[in-house]
Amino acid sequence: MTKTRKPLQKYRRVVIKIGSALLVDRATGLKKAWLDAMCADIAALRAKGADVLVVSSGAIALGRTVLKLPAGALKLEESQAAAAVGQIALARAWSESLSADAIVAGQVLLTLGDTEERRRYLNARATINQLLKLGAVPIINENDTVATTEIRYGDNDRLAARVATMIGADLLVLLSDIDGLYTAPPHLDPNARFLDAIAEITPEIEAMAGGAASELSRGGMRTKIDAGKIATTAGCAMIIASGKPNHPLAAIEDGARSSWFAPSGSPVTARKTWIAGQLLPAGTLAIDAGAEDALRSGKSLLPAGVREVKGTFSRGDTIAILGASGREIARGLAGYDADEARQIAGKKSAEIAAILGYAGRAAMVHRDDLVMTGKRADEKDGRRDEVHA
Ligand code: GLU
Repeated sequence: MTKTRKPLQKYRRVVIKIGSALLVDRATGLKKAWLDAMCADIAALRAKGADVLVVSSGAIALGRTVLKLPAGALKLEESQAAAAVGQIALARAWSESLSADAIVAGQVLLTLGDTEERRRYLNARATINQLLKLGAVPIINENDTVATTEIRYGDNDRLAARVATMIGADLLVLLSDIDGLYTAPPHLDPNARFLDAIAEITPEIEAMAGGAASELSRGGMRTKIDAGKIATTAGCAMIIASGKPNHPLAAIEDGARSSWFAPSGSPVTARKTWIAGQLLPAGTLAIDAGAEDALRSGKSLLPAGVREVKGTFSRGDTIAILGASGREIARGLAGYDADEARQIAGKKSAEIAAILGYAGRAAMVHRDDLVMTGKRADEKDGRRDEVHA
């Protein structure tokens, strides 16, 4: 097979996610030589004019090595303690290795709310943008020490994708011990084919992802495909590649095997991107076929078309909208609190004032706060870009 060189220099803002297994050896701890080589690659990318951000896993893996915790699954509080110990070492390692290339590192620890609540999202985005403006490389991780089950991403693949969309990156690189996407798990199926270009994440592509993860990291192919959906719909390309070789970015450029996911051809505005990528919608609205048609032609969602309201949400929260088939077709910001939404569901806009006792807004979800996230089963989508890798 001939190698195709894949230049990275056309990208202006690149998020690189690094899996734990690349950085940490269970027996010997941090893989310093690998990290130094990685930092040299980052320096080379920056020298070509790109902003570079790192989402680095490894806090828990490093911490459990330092604390000599036994192999196997950890309890939540054990991984939180391991992260507390490991994150210091991890941040120091990045800072030292980058400084060899005269680059300053800045540690950013995020929890789910920092990307999912709009006010905190704007705040985190401003900080990260400021770091970039000052020439520093943000080294980002989940704040595992305080994140508990309900409020955590749990995997850095999706965290990295949310960061990429938050700061308007045009490329997300997921480096781990997996070199890309196969049609089936390659260790189980001898006919598994490697996919080097994915123009669109279809249900068939999702089905290929399976669920497996290695012991050191939480993300498997499933979370990588989820990350791909978040990134590509925001107009950000994604690469899954092996980080095992020293200088993994140079290896990609040199034509090492990697799977490239094309960004969606119809970039939506930052606000809509944020809405579409929300990981935890606070509730759902089930709507009828007439309302579904209205949404698809770009109109707002009126109370009359809403059949059922589920969940507890406040005005401004992100909610998922289920079409006539019961599948999610859109996401949007609620125009009403859940209790009010229940009272006016199915009612004509003219009746709202009498029901609520005040003249509310006409739309349950306004078209500016609405983004379509799912296609009709019979719909073909020809709008996607081809992959130019
Ligand atoms: N945040 C975790 C850590 O630093 C890693 C999560 C993951 O493996 O995706 O240890």
